[in-house]
Amino acid sequence: MKDFYEELGVGRSATQDEIKKAYRKLAIKYHPDKNKDNPEAEQKFKDVSEAYAVLSDESKRQQYDQFGHDNYMNSQRGGGGGGGFHGDPFDIFSNVFSGEGGFGSIFEEFFGGGGGGQPGGPSRGADLRYNLEISFEEAVFGADKKFKIRKAVVCDVCKGEGAEPGSKRETCSTCRGSGNVMMSQGIFNIRQQCPECHGTGEKISNPCRKCHGQGAVNELRTIEIHIPAGVDTGNRLRVNGEGEPGVKGGTPGDLIVVIHVEEHDIFVRQGNDLLIEMPIPFTTAAMGGKVEVPTIGGRASVKIPEGTQHGAMLKLSGKGVPAIRGNGRGDQLVRILVEVPKKLNSDQKEKLQAFSESLDKNSYPKLEKFLKNVKKFFKD
Ligand SMILES: [Zn+2]
Ligand SMILES: [Zn+2]
Repeated sequence: MKDFYEELGVGRSATQDEIKKAYRKLAIKYHPDKNKDNPEAEQKFKDVSEAYAVLSDESKRQQYDQFGHDNYMNSQRGGGGGGGFHGDPFDIFSNVFSGEGGFGSIFEEFFGGGGGGQPGGPSRGADLRYNLEISFEEAVFGADKKFKIRKAVVCDVCKGEGAEPGSKRETCSTCRGSGNVMMSQGIFNIRQQCPECHGTGEKISNPCRKCHGQGAVNELRTIEIHIPAGVDTGNRLRVNGEGEPGVKGGTPGDLIVVIHVEEHDIFVRQGNDLLIEMPIPFTTAAMGGKVEVPTIGGRASVKIPEGTQHGAMLKLSGKGVPAIRGNGRGDQLVRILVEVPKKLNSDQKEKLQAFSESLDKNSYPKLEKFLKNVKKFFKD
């Protein structure tokens, strides 16, 4: 089978909106109701549903991008649970199309404008996204974080029904429960979402006093989340069930926490490695010596070899960031910046002059090589 992106005909950087649009188009085209006795179309319908199930879920999509098609599919099949594609393509189809807010053009498109729509059943709540800023150290060592979000939750008084306890929802009299009404515009009759019940087909005569019939109330929720050591900017963590409430008893969506790591004054992160730039005196560079180097876990003493050049890179193994998957950790890289005093007094200059004259020709091999090439260039 093809790559999921190819299956849907979208680019790898496609937005969720583009992915949904592409799926909708193909799902309508290949829906078995429209392709009677056509096993090829049926297979295609399953394939695009499977592709959509993965790419529409940000955490699955991330894994898919990371592991590639074959590895991802193998990882889903293996591992005890017997993974594979468990989603029902028809469930996916109705989920996508019932989230449209009433039954507008998409159902008319699908049913050819013929039959009437029907009110939607339970559907899963949407995922919410939250950007969480964490410090550099929290990203390296992991942390338990708490934050508050204001979001809709199912009303506890009416359990999301919207009706005052003891009273019931009634069939909407305006649309007789269909969720749609016919409006005439000139000579055309156009089916529109029922303005009375907003397409639900039901009316609440005695709305819940707490949520005013909405079935949901806004609440300040405290979210507690464990940040695993090794996360980086752009990583997403999923908090199950903390998204928007489901519609009509559907399961709630998830909260997707997107990590943003603050910059550090000393360390720069490169994957799991940490890079620092460290100035050392030119005398230490020439003679060698011990210097104190900061690492994320504390101070370390590092030996600078004699004759260390500007830009030289030293490596402190295992002093980097722990791998978020598996074990082991990155290294710390130290780029040496050789610093030369900007001002010398005459006594110091004299000493350096004497020092310089004491050097032999082989002291500056790079300079020697460079001068040779210059000579060649000018054909001296
Ligand atoms: Zn309520
Ligand atoms: Zn209605």
